[in-house]
Amino acid sequence: MVTTGEPIMLDLLTRIRRTGLLTEATAKPDLRDDEVRHMHDRLQRVFGRALRIRHVDAGSCNGCELEIQALTNPYYNLEGAGLAFVASPRHADVLLVTGPVSVNMVEALRRTYDAMPNPKWVMAVGDCGACGGVFGINYASRGRVADVLPVDMTVPGCPPTPRALLQGLLLMASMPHSRSPFRTSRERTDPK
Ligand code: SF4
Repeated sequence: MVTTGEPIMLDLLTRIRRTGLLTEATAKPDLRDDEVRHMHDRLQRVFGRALRIRHVDAGSCNGCELEIQALTNPYYNLEGAGLAFVASPRHADVLLVTGPVSVNMVEALRRTYDAMPNPKWVMAVGDCGACGGVFGINYASRGRVADVLPVDMTVPGCPPTPRALLQGLLLMASMPHSRSPFRTSRERTDPK
């Protein structure tokens, strides 16, 4: 049977009107807001409004990705502090790596690192990135990121919270001589 769209649309609009707004009210500021605001101020001071991050999932279960996604929500206002995720390693200052490095991702990870301009940082995220985590080293996994790339900072946790990720970025930036010298992925990780 052929029906015109008008009655259906009318029915839908009536239902929407009857149902009303179902979203939750905006959360009231709590103590953590101050903490985030303080962190935000520090981010702006330390990074001078320009830090670009390239994220690579090297074999994660995606738990860490959910927390990274949460980090980009308006609560943390990353872009307001000059931090942003970028699609190309050529525009990135920081390589943020999640997961144990699966064998199939070793070369892609190295190429991504080599494509980044110097100086650059590498942050290994999660227990998997820090030490191999529950996957460890096996036929399909090379384990921790540090066995493939020169790592400047690890943020453990399974998964680490957005706050821990921010603290890791700040800590990395405040470490003396933390900016990696000019180097390629193989210079520090391949045994001679
Ligand atoms: S650290 Fe935990 S959440 Fe992150 S990739 Fe490993 S198992 Fe998943």
